[in-house]
Amino acid sequence: MSFLDGYLIFLCQPFYGIYLIFISLYGVSVYRYFSNHKMNEEQLRMWYTHLSIFMYLIFSSWTVIFALNIQHSEYNLHYIAIFTELGAAVVASTLLVSDKKLFVPILVTLMLPLVLYFFLIGTWFGYVLSVFSLIFLGVLLYAAYNTNHLIRTNYYQAQHDMLTGLYNRRYFMEYMEPLHRRLLEKNKIAYMLLIDLDHFKTINDSLGHEIGDKLLTAVSERLKTYCKDKYILARLGGDEFILVSDELDKNKETQEEAHNFALRLLDEIRRPYTIDTHHLHISASIGLHELENFSLDSSNFIKEVDIAMYEAKSKGRDGVIVFNKDLSERVERHLEIEQRLHQTLNGNRLKVYYQPQFDCDSNIVGCEALVRWFDDDLGVLSPDEFIPIAENTGLILELGSYVLHETFKVLHSWNEEGHYLQNFAINISIRQLLYEPFIEEVEVLMKYYFSKEDLSQKIIFEITEHVFSQDMDKVVKTMKRLQKSGITFSIDDFGTGYSSLSYLQELPIGEVKIDKAFIAGMGSNGNSEKMIGTIISIAKNFNLKIVSEGVEEESQFEALQAYDCDIFQGFYFDEALSKEAFELKYFKD
Ligand code: C2E
Ligand code: CA
Ligand code: CA
Repeated sequence: MSFLDGYLIFLCQPFYGIYLIFISLYGVSVYRYFSNHKMNEEQLRMWYTHLSIFMYLIFSSWTVIFALNIQHSEYNLHYIAIFTELGAAVVASTLLVSDKKLFVPILVTLMLPLVLYFFLIGTWFGYVLSVFSLIFLGVLLYAAYNTNHLIRTNYYQAQHDMLTGLYNRRYFMEYMEPLHRRLLEKNKIAYMLLIDLDHFKTINDSLGHEIGDKLLTAVSERLKTYCKDKYILARLGGDEFILVSDELDKNKETQEEAHNFALRLLDEIRRPYTIDTHHLHISASIGLHELENFSLDSSNFIKEVDIAMYEAKSKGRDGVIVFNKDLSERVERHLEIEQRLHQTLNGNRLKVYYQPQFDCDSNIVGCEALVRWFDDDLGVLSPDEFIPIAENTGLILELGSYVLHETFKVLHSWNEEGHYLQNFAINISIRQLLYEPFIEEVEVLMKYYFSKEDLSQKIIFEITEHVFSQDMDKVVKTMKRLQKSGITFSIDDFGTGYSSLSYLQELPIGEVKIDKAFIAGMGSNGNSEKMIGTIISIAKNFNLKIVSEGVEEESQFEALQAYDCDIFQGFYFDEALSKEAFELKYFKD
C-alpha cells in the first residue's frame, strides 16, 4: 500500500462515516416530516424534492465508497467494493421501483462505474465482466420498468372508472378531504354538481347494455371536454356523475357562474349522440350545491346534492336545482313521515273520518271516508302530505287495506243499526287498483259483509283520471271485475287530468266529482264557471251523477244547485268527522 493510499483511506473513511450519519439523519427528518404533516400540493412538491436529494445522496455514497476502495492495491477491498456496488444496485431497483425518475439515473450511476472498472482491467475476463455488468444493468432496469408499469396500472385502476376513464367514487371521496381543508384554511367555497341522466335505463333496456355503455362513454367525453381544469369530474356509478370546483370566493358572481355552468353543461349533454346506427337524445337532472363549512362526512354532502338532484327529477327532469335548507327540511320531513308511516301502520295512529254528503235539499245522502293520521310528535297529518309518500313507497297497499277493512266494518255496523246511506265513498289509489291481492281482498270483504243484504246503497271507489294513463286493459278488467262484486266508481278531481273522455262510456262509472279548485274559483274567475258548466254537461250526457266537493259558502251551494248538481260536500255543511262524532250528529234517532 502506498503512502498516498494509506493517507486517503485514513482521511476518507472516518469522513465517509460522518457523511453517512449526516445523510441518514437527513433521511429521518424527511420521513418524519412526511408522517407528521398534512401537506398541501406546494409543500408536497417541496417534500418530494427533498426525498429525491436524499435518495441521490445515499445511493451515490455507495459509488463513492466503490471509487475509494478500488484505488486500493489490496484486492480483497476491490471484492468488497464490487459486491457492495452490486448490492446497492439491487436495493435501488426494488426500493425506488415506484418512481421512474429516481430509479433510472440512480441505477445507471451505480452500475456504470462497475462496467468501466471491469473494462479498464484490460484483460479478456475484464471485458466479459464488463459486458455482464451492462447486461445486469439492463435486467435491473427492465425488471424495475415492468414492476413500475404494474404498480401504475394498479394505481390507475384503483382511482379510475374502467368504462369511462373518469375518476371513480373512491378517488373523489379522497379528493374531498384536502379540498375541505383548503376551503377552511382559505375561507373559500366550492360548487358541487351531481348529474343523473334521465331515462337512461330505458335506453339500456331497449337498445342493450353495449349501446348504453357507449352512450355513457360519449357523455363522459363531453363532460371531460367541458369541465377541463375547472372541475374535478368523477363517475359515481351507473349514470351518475359528480363534479366539484376548485376553491372560489363566496359572492354573487361565482354563484351565477356556477349556475350558468350547470345550465350550459345540460345543453352540452342534450346535444344528440350518434352511437353505431342510433341517433340518441338524452337529458339530465342536475343538483347544484354550494359547499361551505360542509361536514366532511361524505354521506352528508353527497346526500345534500342528491336532494337537489332528486328535486330536479321530481320537477319533471331535464333541469338544474340548487340545494337550499328549505329543500333539505322538506326532504327530512318526508323521510321522517316515511319512517313513521311504517310504525303507524302497525300502531293505532290511523283513523278513518267520514265527511257527509248532501242532496240539494240539504238531506244527508252519503259520506266519503278520509283517512287521518294522529302522530304523537308530528301532530295531525293531512293525507295530502302522507298519501303521496305512501304511494311512492308502496305502503299505500297496506294503508289502503287498513282503510278498506275499517270502512267495510263501519258501514256494516251502521247497516245493522238500521242507518242506511245511499252513497259510501272510499278513495282508492292507482297502485291498489292494479294490485291483484287488493281485488281479491275486496271480493272477500264484499262477500263477508254484504252478501246476504240487498245492497240498497252504493259502495263507491273514488279513483282519479291518472288511472287511465296506466295499462288500460288491466284497468278495464279490474274495474269490471269489481263491478261484479257490487262496486261502482267515481272520478275524483274530475277535470284536472288529461285523459280522453271515451272511458266514461266504456267503464262502470256512476259519478264524477268536480274538483274543489273549480268550486273555490267560482265568482272570482269566469274560467271556473265555464269548467263547471262543461263538466256538468258532459256528465249529464253520460248519465252520471255529479258531486260538488269543497262547497264552503252558501252562494256556491246556490249556484251549483242552479247548475243541477246532484250531491254536495264541503265545509259549508260539515267537515270530516270521526265515526263516533258522525253517528252522534247524523244518526241521532
Ligand atoms: P280528495 O279525495 O279530493 O278529498 C277531499 C279533500 O277535501 C279532503 O281532504 C277533505 O277534507 C277536503 N275538503 C272537504 N271539504 C272541503 C272544503 O269545503 N274546502 C276545502 N278546502 N277542502 C275540503 P283530506 O281529507 O285532507 O284528503 C286529501 C286527499 O287525500 C284526498 O283528496 C284523497 O285524495 C286523499 N285521501 C284521503 N284519504 C284517503 C284514503 O283512504 N286512501 C287514498 N288512496 N287516498 C286518500
Ligand atoms: Ca276523494
Ligand atoms: Ca277530490
